[in-house]
Amino acid sequence: MIGRVEMPAILEVQRLEKRFGGVVALAGVDLTVNEGEILGIIGPNGSGKTTLFNVITGVHRPTSGHVSWLGEDITAKAPHVVAKKGIGRTFQQAMAFSALSIAENVRIACQHSRKREDGANGGLTTPTEILDFVELSHLAGEGAANLGFGNLRKLGLAIALGSQPRLLLADEPAAGLNDRETADLATLIRAISARHITVAVIDHDMKLMMTLCERLIVLDFGYKIKEGPPEEVRNDPKVLEVYLGGDVELTGN
Ligand code: ADP
Ligand code: MG
Repeated sequence: MIGRVEMPAILEVQRLEKRFGGVVALAGVDLTVNEGEILGIIGPNGSGKTTLFNVITGVHRPTSGHVSWLGEDITAKAPHVVAKKGIGRTFQQAMAFSALSIAENVRIACQHSRKREDGANGGLTTPTEILDFVELSHLAGEGAANLGFGNLRKLGLAIALGSQPRLLLADEPAAGLNDRETADLATLIRAISARHITVAVIDHDMKLMMTLCERLIVLDFGYKIKEGPPEEVRNDPKVLEVYLGGDVELTGN
């Protein structure tokens, strides 16, 4: 980390708690996302990762705690309001309008966007630019229903980019992808990051997460049990114990 300039926090989550009846999905999580980073969120199934994104984006109202974005309290704001403020997301279940073409899906996504307040995403604002960027232009007229997994994930990212986000939350973008598609996805996420879009990504693919992310946060039963650079997280006994039942190695090479 020597020589690295610490960037300002753009998103701050404080003591975030979310209960569903008796289930504690988030048990008081504190975290920050810093401008420009690629942050990874890992943890076993049911550890609260998707709920975290859902509470940040206003899909669920937290039981308690706060979410602040660029210094403004956005706790429990409606999803479309949060999106307009510059937080985009992709969904664990790849989502697109299957009756529409790829181009139409991206065009609709772009319709409701607001210009990014810092204007830092030049060249990534029109449907054409976004389709080119995710390398789907050659399939623009195809129905979204005909897409394979890899291209459907790209379309999900394109739709999220349509809102001109300053922060992109990606929920398991590599789920169901083969090795080559996963490598393409990593390249695409790095390219998104290079376009001045901060990224927070959830995924189970440890090789992907260890190589893609500069910092990892580990959730377990709704608690943040560890955060740090990948090499530190992968050697943490608590992480190995709760995440994989101990006596294993988290490989990232
Ligand atoms: P992860 O994404 O880490 O797999 P989730 O955030 O989806 O975990 O789920 C965390 C916990 O919250 C799980 O026990 C899950 O069953 C529960 N949960 C998530 N969403 C809901 C919901 N809408 N209603 C009830 N329980 C939910
Ligand atoms: Mg999930």
